[in-house]
Amino acid sequence: MEKHKNLSIFVPHEGCPNQCSFCDQKKISGTQNPPSPDYVTQLCDEFLPHDSAQGASYEIAFFGGSFTAIDRGYMLALLQAAYPFVKRGRAAGIRVSTRPDAISREILDIMKEYGVTAIELGAQSMQDHVLKMNLRGHTVQDVFTASRLIKEYGFSLGLQMMPGLYGQDDYMQCAIDTAQQFIRIKPDTVRIYPTLTLKDTLLESLYQKGMYTPLTVRQAVEICAVLVKMFNRENIKIIKLGLHADTGLEHSLVAGPYHPAMKELVYSHIMMESFTADLQQLPAGDYTVYVNSRKHSQATGQKKSNLLALQQLGYNVTIKDDNSLTGDNYTIIKEGEKQCI
Ligand code: SF4
Repeated sequence: MEKHKNLSIFVPHEGCPNQCSFCDQKKISGTQNPPSPDYVTQLCDEFLPHDSAQGASYEIAFFGGSFTAIDRGYMLALLQAAYPFVKRGRAAGIRVSTRPDAISREILDIMKEYGVTAIELGAQSMQDHVLKMNLRGHTVQDVFTASRLIKEYGFSLGLQMMPGLYGQDDYMQCAIDTAQQFIRIKPDTVRIYPTLTLKDTLLESLYQKGMYTPLTVRQAVEICAVLVKMFNRENIKIIKLGLHADTGLEHSLVAGPYHPAMKELVYSHIMMESFTADLQQLPAGDYTVYVNSRKHSQATGQKKSNLLALQQLGYNVTIKDDNSLTGDNYTIIKEGEKQCI
C-alpha cells in the first residue's frame, strides 16, 4: 500500500483571536507570509501526482493557524484553490487544523462543500484551568462539542495534546487525564507535542521568572510512552509525536524537551520497559533478544542506552535480527540454551 503523504501548507497566525502561552506560530512555520491562493495552486500542481491512483494517498493539509477562523473570503479562496485537485483525483482530500471554538454547522457545511476530509482540533489539554492559564481562550466543553459535530458530519477527527503545559501540578497525571478524555471522544488520530518554550512567548517570561518548569527530555519520553500505550490499546492512530527540526524552531527554542528523535526515544523506552519486565522473571545472566531488523535500533536504544540499563540490572543482552518476527514482537534466548524464553 502507498504510504500516506501530506502536502502541508502553513497558514501562519491567521485567525487567532489570542496569543496562546506557548505559541509563536510564525517561527514554527518558518514563514511570515500567509500563502496566496495562487501559491496554493502552484504548489499543488507541482507536488501532487497526476495519476489518480497515486493521488489517492495524498492529502492537502492546511496547518499552522486556526483555519476555520481566518477571514472568510481568504479561507474560501484557499479552499477554492485546493479543491480542484481533489476533484481531479490528484489528492484524496483536504485536512485542516483549527481551534475547538471555531467549529459550527455552518463551517462544517463549507468544509464538506470543498472536499475537506479531516479536521484536527488543537485541544492541547482537557483541564479548564490549564487552558485558562495558557490563554487558550476555549474550554474543555468546546472540545467535546466540536468533536461531536465533526464526527456527526463524517469527517476524520484528529486531536492534538501538549503534555507539560504551564499550570499542571503533576505533568504525568494531567497527560493521562487528557488522554483518557480523548479516548472517551474516540478520535481517529492524535498528535502529541510535548510543550516547548519558545522565544517571545508568555511561557518564556514565566520560565525566566522561575514560575514555569518545562519537562525534561526524560520526563517527556516517560509521559509519551504512557500515552502511546493508552492510544495503542484503543487503536487510536498517533500521527505525530514531537516537533520536527525542519520547522525552524531550533532557533527560537529557549527550553523544554526538544529532541530531534523524540518518537524513536519513546518507542525505545517502551521496548526497554517490556524487556525489563520479561527479563526480571529470569535469573541474571547473558541473553540474546531477537527482534525484527526494523526494530533493532529501538531495541538497542540511543547510544546503547537500553543495553547499558539492562546491564545495570544484571542482564547482559545482545540484540539480533529475526525478520520472521513482526511488529514489536521479540524472543529472548538465554546464552547456551536453544529454546526461546
Ligand atoms: S490558537 Fe493556535 S495558532 Fe493561534 S496562538 Fe493559539 S496555538 Fe498559536
